[in-house]
Amino acid sequence: MAIREIVEYPSPILAQVSSPIENFDKELKELVSDMIATMYAAPGIGLAAIQIGIPKSVIVFDCSDEGNSPQSLINPRIIKAEGEVNSEEGCLSIPGYRETIKRSERVLVTGFDLEGKPVEISADGLLSRCLQHEIDHTKGKLIIDRFSRIKKDMFIKWFQKKNI
Ligand code: ZN
Repeated sequence: MAIREIVEYPSPILAQVSSPIENFDKELKELVSDMIATMYAAPGIGLAAIQIGIPKSVIVFDCSDEGNSPQSLINPRIIKAEGEVNSEEGCLSIPGYRETIKRSERVLVTGFDLEGKPVEISADGLLSRCLQHEIDHTKGKLIIDRFSRIKKDMFIKWFQKKNI
């Protein structure tokens, strides 16, 4: 188990589309365990493999109140989405930034566990938001890619100011 470095915006790595996992092997288990350690160390409630520079469709998350129930999902996919809700969101790859994002209220997500067994998660609230955010990462999408042109310009100004 190792804490990895988190890739930050504007690295082009974050725009890569992750490829599906085909082998549910020891290497995958090690990747997930590193990702969980990295997520907790950040600290954050979700992390996608691309955020540690690995373009594989793997996400980890822990939306529990206690922060002691790490979960992972391999090749996650949203198969149903309902409703709309606005809420503030941040991203470990854009440290210090938070903005309101519109997301689906409820989602039904499928994927696989570490053994390759199919899993289905029906989520609302924070877990729903977290899953949508991490699944976006597997598609090379960041929160800012969901912004309007004006909001994105405002973000770029914020980022430039921060990096002077
Ligand atoms: Zn993120």
